[in-house]
Amino acid sequence: MSETKKDKPLIIAGPCSAETEEQLLTIAHSLKKTTVDVFRAGIWKPRTRPGNFEGVGEIGLKWLKRVKEETGLKTAIEVANPKHVELALKNDVDVLWVGARTTASPFTIQEIANSCRGIDNLVLVKNSINADLPLWIGAIERFYGQNHTNLGAIHRGFSSFEKTKYRNIPIWEIPIGLRQEFPDLPLIFDPSHIAGERSLIYELSKTAMALNFNGLIIETHNDPDSAWSDSKQQVTPENLLSMLNDLLNKKEVLTLNPSTEKLLELNFRLDTLKDQLGDVFIKKRKLIDQVESKKIKK
Ligand code: PEP
Ligand code: MN
Repeated sequence: MSETKKDKPLIIAGPCSAETEEQLLTIAHSLKKTTVDVFRAGIWKPRTRPGNFEGVGEIGLKWLKRVKEETGLKTAIEVANPKHVELALKNDVDVLWVGARTTASPFTIQEIANSCRGIDNLVLVKNSINADLPLWIGAIERFYGQNHTNLGAIHRGFSSFEKTKYRNIPIWEIPIGLRQEFPDLPLIFDPSHIAGERSLIYELSKTAMALNFNGLIIETHNDPDSAWSDSKQQVTPENLLSMLNDLLNKKEVLTLNPSTEKLLELNFRLDTLKDQLGDVFIKKRKLIDQVESKKIKK
């Protein structure tokens, strides 16, 4: 992974979506000459339902080129098909990532992997939305199968039917399982899409650093509340840099032993059950109140 110095975690930051040229430049200038290595911005946005902001498209690549020229930061975008790969390369984008919705489709992954044959850009493969380790492994294998070895993986959590405090649950055993399969594959942590809420990002990142993840990708916006996508989970550049300062310099020691990840998972399940119990009691109270008010009216 040439993007990072040995032993320093790879730090990727920038907005969920490129919105305007000015927005990208403002954010990028506040991240230059810091511990941030790569500037991220989504150009084409995969949205669960049509009608939401679907990205600025190709014009955003010109803006990213300017970001690179003015700040010296490397750039990263999401690619979801071979055309995206071609346009990214044409516009000197350094790092490509494959999104969670794309990893779920082996056909699309194969097409993207084929289009990456012979390039040396770092490609980061996010886990699929569903908690399926073999699907993630399979996506990585498809890139290796095309002799693309400048690879990494991004843990962005898993969609869950259960209601929890996270937007996507971490299920730490899965990225740890991926590491067992590919011990040398850099593993990057995406607390933004796991948290779904900015106040949870720091704690999650602390756990990831303690588990020896090789980097972080954190959505960063100059005016998070007004962001055109994922507004609740984005942090300001000031907030990001102060978190990174703590995370990278005061790394908390959490002894890694075989039961650590199991313990994290069990604690998480316990917290989730407590939240669900709380919800059930609230719903029960509301129903009792409704029944009582009907009785009084009779
Ligand atoms: C993103 O990085 O903005 C994104 C859409 O992520 P994911 O594919 O993890 O949902
Ligand atoms: Mn996002």
